[in-house]
Amino acid sequence: MQAMMMNRPLLISSILDFAAEQHPNAEIVSVRTEGDLHRQTYRQTAARVAQLAHGLEAHGVKLGDRVATLAWNGYRHFELYYAISGMGAVCHTINPRLSAEQLIYIVNHAEDKLIFVDTTFVPILQAVKEHLPKDTRYVIMTERAHMPANTLDALCYEELLDGKPETFDWPEFDENTASGLCYTSGTTGNPKGALYSHRSTVLHALMVCLVMGQTLAEGKKVLPVVPLFHVNAWGLPYTAPLIGMSMVMPGGALDGPSVFKLMDSEGVFSAWGVPTVWQGLLVEVKAQGRLPKEFAQVVVGGSAAPRAMIETFEKMGVGVNHAWGMTEMSPIGTHGVMPRWVMEKPFDQMINYKSKQGRRAFGVDLKIVDDNGKLVPHDGKSMGELYVRGNTIVSGYFENEEASKKAVDAEGWFGTGDIATITSEGFLSLQDRSKDLIKSGGEWISSIDLENLAVAHPAIASAAAIAMPHPKWDERPVLVAVLAPGAEKPTLYEMHAHMSEQFAKWQLPDDIIWVDALPLTATGKISKLTLRQQMSDYKLPDLR
Ligand code: AMP
Repeated sequence: MQAMMMNRPLLISSILDFAAEQHPNAEIVSVRTEGDLHRQTYRQTAARVAQLAHGLEAHGVKLGDRVATLAWNGYRHFELYYAISGMGAVCHTINPRLSAEQLIYIVNHAEDKLIFVDTTFVPILQAVKEHLPKDTRYVIMTERAHMPANTLDALCYEELLDGKPETFDWPEFDENTASGLCYTSGTTGNPKGALYSHRSTVLHALMVCLVMGQTLAEGKKVLPVVPLFHVNAWGLPYTAPLIGMSMVMPGGALDGPSVFKLMDSEGVFSAWGVPTVWQGLLVEVKAQGRLPKEFAQVVVGGSAAPRAMIETFEKMGVGVNHAWGMTEMSPIGTHGVMPRWVMEKPFDQMINYKSKQGRRAFGVDLKIVDDNGKLVPHDGKSMGELYVRGNTIVSGYFENEEASKKAVDAEGWFGTGDIATITSEGFLSLQDRSKDLIKSGGEWISSIDLENLAVAHPAIASAAAIAMPHPKWDERPVLVAVLAPGAEKPTLYEMHAHMSEQFAKWQLPDDIIWVDALPLTATGKISKLTLRQQMSDYKLPDLR
C-alpha cells in the first residue's frame, strides 16, 4: 500500500530561504581579500544571492551548466554556493592548491562556463588560461575599486549584482538534479569528480545537524577552517544556516596566530579543520597561555587526529569531535560524539575512544571486507577494506566511465580504499590507506599508529611513517619527522624507548629522517606519494 504523504523535492534554495526567515540576524563574518573584516546577516545574504542569480542568468547560465569557484572561505563564495545551485546550475569548487596540470584537466573536463576567482588566485588562472576552454568567462570576486590588472578580460563580481532585484523566483526541479561538483585530489592519475545532488546535499546537511549536535548551537559562531573548496567545507555552509549559527570565514589567513586572533575577537564556539591547522593553533595557545575566548568545540578530520592533540584540547576543556569521511561521501561518514558510557570512563580511556574515527552517522552503512571481498567481523581486531553505502555517497564519477565501474562493488557499496577495524560497539579505527600500509615479514604495521605515537614525543612537531623496500622483510617502516621548535633531536633508540610500550620491537621504525617540512597535498594532508618520490634513492640502515 502506498502512503499518502506529500513528496516535496529537497532543494538547496530552501535552506537559505529558511535561514533568512528564521535566523535573519545570524551573520557571515569574513576576512576579505580586500584586507578588512566584513559582516552581513543571512537576510542580507539571501538578498545578495538573489541578485547574483540574476547576474548569472544575464550571462546565460542555465540548468546543468557548470560554474566554478577558485576562492577562500568568505561571504561571496557562500553566495555563489546558493546562487549557482539554487538556479539549477552546478557549483564546481576548485582547489587552488592543485598543480597547473590538474587544474587544466578539471576545468576542461567540467567545461566550466564561468570561473569566479578571488583576487589572490588571479595569477593562477592567468598562467594556464591558454589551456582552458576558449569560451570560459572569468569573474573576479571583488568590487571595481579593487579589481587587479589582469589578462582574463574578467568581469567584476559586485557589478554582476549591482541594481539587480533582491528576490529571485527559485525554480523547482527534480531533487536528484546535480548541485555541486568537487574533484578528488592527492591521488595518482587524473582527479575524479564527485557530483552531488540537491537531495544528497540537503540530506547531508540534516545528517550533520543530527550527528554533530554537540558542536552546533543556535546563536553561536562556527569557524570553518576547512575550505569551501574542499568537499563543501564538510557541509557547514548548509548546516550552519539551518541551525542559525553565524559563520566566521577566515579567508586565506590560516596560520596559528591569525586563526587564534580571529577566534578570540569573534568568540568562536566551534571550529572545524584538519589536524595541521590545529597543530598551528595549539602552538599559539601555548605561547599565549590561554584559549581563544568562548572556544569550546573542535571538529578534526581529513587525516587522523593525533592522540596527543586530542588529549591537549580535552585537558583545556575543548571537546574534540574526531570525524572521518571523504569527498565521495559529501563528506561525513562517522562522527566523534561519544556515548555516555564512554564519557563516564577514566580520562585516559575516554581519550582512547576519541582517538578512533568515531561511529557511523545515521544513513551511512559501513562494512569491512578481506582481499576476497568476504565480510570481516566487527571485533575491533580484524582489518579489512572499508566500504560504505548511503544517500550521501557517490554512485560513480562525473563523466568517467572507467573510474565509475571500479567505484562500487556488485552490491552497490563504494570502496573507500581505507583499511580499518570496527569494534562490536561500532567504533571505526582507520589503520591506513590501503596503499600506505606497511607490510613487514608478512605482517601489517599501521603507519597512522606509528605517526600518532611519534608526534606524542615532545621533540616531534609532525611525522610521517612510510614503507621502504627491504630485501628480507619486504618493507620496513621509517619515520620522516620535523623537529619541534627549540627541541633537541632524539636518537633512534630514544624514539624506540618512547614507542616500545605500544609497539612490538619488529614494528618500530628502522630510521628517522629529519626534514624541515613535510610535503602536503592540495587539501593540506601529508603527501606520502611525494614523500616516497623524494626518498626514492634512500637506503635503509642495516639493522636487521
Ligand atoms: P578527501 O576525499 O580528500 O577528504 O580524503 C578522504 C580520505 O582522508 C579518507 O579516505 C581517509 O583516508 C582520510 N581521512 C579522512 N578523515 C580521516 C580521519 N579522521 N582519520 C584518518 N584519515 C582520515
